[in-house]
Amino acid sequence: MRIAVIGAGVVGSLIARELTRYAAEVLLFEKEADIGWGVSKANSAIVHGCFHEAPGTQRAVLCAEGNALYPSLCRELDVPFKQIGAYVVALSEEDLPVIRELYEQGIKIGIPGLEIHDRETVLAREPHLNTEVLSALWSPSVGITEPWGLAIAAVENGVRNGLELHVTEAVEGIDTASSRVQRVITATGEYEVDAVVNAAGLFADRIAGMVGLERPVITPRRGEYALLDKKIGPLVSSVIFPAPSGISKGILVVPTVDGGILLGPTAEDLDREDKEATGTTSDGVHEAIEGARRLVPDIDLSLVVKTFAGLRPETPDKQFVIGETEVEGFFQAAGMRSPGLTAAPAVAKHLVHDVMAPALDLAEKSSFDPQRRGMRSVVDLSPKEADALIASDVSYGRVICQCNRVTEGEIIEAIRRGARTLDGIKFRTRAGFGRCQGGFCTDKILMLLARELKASPEEITMRGDGSEILDGMVRK
Ligand SMILES: Cc1cc2nc3c(=O)[nH]c(=O)nc-3n(C[C@H](O)[C@H](O)[C@H](O)COP(=O)(O)OP(=O)(O)OC[C@H]3O[C@@H](n4cnc5c(N)ncnc54)[C@H](O)[C@@H]3O)c2cc1C
Repeated sequence: MRIAVIGAGVVGSLIARELTRYAAEVLLFEKEADIGWGVSKANSAIVHGCFHEAPGTQRAVLCAEGNALYPSLCRELDVPFKQIGAYVVALSEEDLPVIRELYEQGIKIGIPGLEIHDRETVLAREPHLNTEVLSALWSPSVGITEPWGLAIAAVENGVRNGLELHVTEAVEGIDTASSRVQRVITATGEYEVDAVVNAAGLFADRIAGMVGLERPVITPRRGEYALLDKKIGPLVSSVIFPAPSGISKGILVVPTVDGGILLGPTAEDLDREDKEATGTTSDGVHEAIEGARRLVPDIDLSLVVKTFAGLRPETPDKQFVIGETEVEGFFQAAGMRSPGLTAAPAVAKHLVHDVMAPALDLAEKSSFDPQRRGMRSVVDLSPKEADALIASDVSYGRVICQCNRVTEGEIIEAIRRGARTLDGIKFRTRAGFGRCQGGFCTDKILMLLARELKASPEEITMRGDGSEILDGMVRK
């Protein structure tokens, strides 16, 4: 049995890992040079409390199940996850029934720990909030994580259990005969397969079209953000939502797992083919900042280190498209709009165990090892632990990224784990993610990549072919 998963975002990566629990050959195809660079790279990184979802929908069920799976999954895969809770704040009389409705919706879904807090309690716990707050819905099960880190961890663990990873290998066609998948065609190869999983994010409609399916229809909805440096300190200790507007959950103030603060996202519907429009606009960033300031007025904008945008893969009926199709052997986990990150672990379990295993008669193997050890980060070690590590390998004593205190040893480890580009290093180690955004360390990381990969510096790219950094040497 040979199964191809298309798309190494958080959804495809978790599905591929889940499939390695079974006696099957599993291939994961990703068009980009690394894992988690699609929708999974640029989002709010919240493991939602799911009270925004309509009770009884598949989205609500998978969101709640996904939320419950996160603590153990992140422990198993050694991925950062902080269950910091969230407030949805009512800033006006009109917001009060909205947060009451969210509370009741959450109770119907079975979300644990929901409470409505009065103004004094909210301001005591979040002193930087807008003092006009009247009351707020408290949801303790909301968490924050690192979405691309989860995708990388799932793939690393999958590979340990037999997964075959093909990066920089876009799927260009799928052969079918008698309404059954036969072969996956990429730019560099052809692979006989028994089954295909379409987890291609924004591009899932194009993959479905390769086997003649018209569902899903995917339209991008852009969300713009501003990121504040961790120097901002503890501005808020939980995720802060406004009372929702209808089109989205609104513009939020979100602590990140490494101590920064994210402001956004906006919500702007784009044309169906605008699947790469991740540029920011001054209007969008301004809207994100002003929206965040309604919740937390005292935001120091000199600490904005980055602006960026992500594209939500929206479907016309707003539902996920998960399961079997009329083409035998073709499965989908598509239309994974928000809360797709939250739902992803449950989607992977449901699709693989409840749908694919019976349909393909998959047998579980006893050798599956669920544990993965994350990257060592010297800055997170105690002085004694750091000393011991440096004594065993002096490269852990050479700091390359001054902002985030990332060492040469960590960069070498990231390369050994599969990073081939500057972005690959950044997303694995946070080198270049800090206040200077790589201004002082890009050259050093580039030379380390060239040295470790035995490549010339001109061959090293930011994020794959066409993004080379150097044009040639000025002086030998
Ligand atoms: C602004 C914004 C905010 C969000 N906030 C949250 C949040 O806080 N919480 C939450 O739960 N959810 C959130 N989401 C939703 C969440 O980010 C997505 O549901 C999730 O990341 C989708 O993952 P995916 O694996 O389906 O897609 P992707 O991460 O896009 O993965 C699909 C992969 O397929 C690859 N691919 C495409 N075509 C091909 C091909 N032909 N061959 C090979 N590979 C291909 C792509 O390169 C990509 O890597 C948000 C989304 C956005 C945009």
